[in-house]
Amino acid sequence: MMANFFGLIPAAGSGSRMGNELPKQYLPLAGKPMIYHAVRRLCSSSRIGGVFVILAPEDGEWGKYDWSEFADKLAVIRCGGGTRAQSVLNGLKAARKTSPIGDTDWVLVHDAARPCLSENQLDRLMDELADDEVGGLLAVPVADTLKRSDNSSRVKNTESREHLWQAQTPQMFRYNLLVEALGMTGGTAMTDDAGAVEALGLHPKLVLSDARNLKVTYPQDLALAELVLRNPG
Ligand code: C5P
Repeated sequence: MMANFFGLIPAAGSGSRMGNELPKQYLPLAGKPMIYHAVRRLCSSSRIGGVFVILAPEDGEWGKYDWSEFADKLAVIRCGGGTRAQSVLNGLKAARKTSPIGDTDWVLVHDAARPCLSENQLDRLMDELADDEVGGLLAVPVADTLKRSDNSSRVKNTESREHLWQAQTPQMFRYNLLVEALGMTGGTAMTDDAGAVEALGLHPKLVLSDARNLKVTYPQDLALAELVLRNPG
């Protein structure tokens, strides 16, 4: 049987590095709360059957917006945890209680803070991994020269950038593998899903993306994201 595709957007973070009261997934971007753009991208793919947004239980922002245009695919679950990994794991388990997700169905985990994912990047990820044993993620080879510093921002040494990639999202793995991997690593410092899969001794595939799928982390990233959204390439 053909595996189905589902989307899962962890959005239970506080976004403290943005220096803003409002969690960053709700900061205004091109006339919408930032998370709208990630939701729209996943929901508008005809190959993705359902999209789950994982919110913090105390989230007071989601309900202020109208999400009815996505009603046929979108489900909201208020089960975010203390770390990104915990939010994803809680979300995976809760999603299965209401939706028929098979063990080998694909889950695309995509950060609410990456609003500029293009249709092409998303399609390429699904095309390249649909028959893969392990799964994988969008990523970009490191272009800059890399410096390692001491504690006072002085260069200790230059690192080779050979074979180094920057990991993006979506990260796409089969449901049962993702639950197993995140369950093993629990609430550790793992900052992406692939890291948890790697900890099982597996080797996720890197699918070539580009810098337009940027992550909004600092305030100045918002202007860049707005530029990309207004100039789809
Ligand atoms: O903070 P950072 O940009 O690394 O967060 C990545 C994604 O993980 C964001 O979409 C954020 O809302 C989500 N997250 C979460 N639960 C947490 C921490 C982060 O869902 N406890």
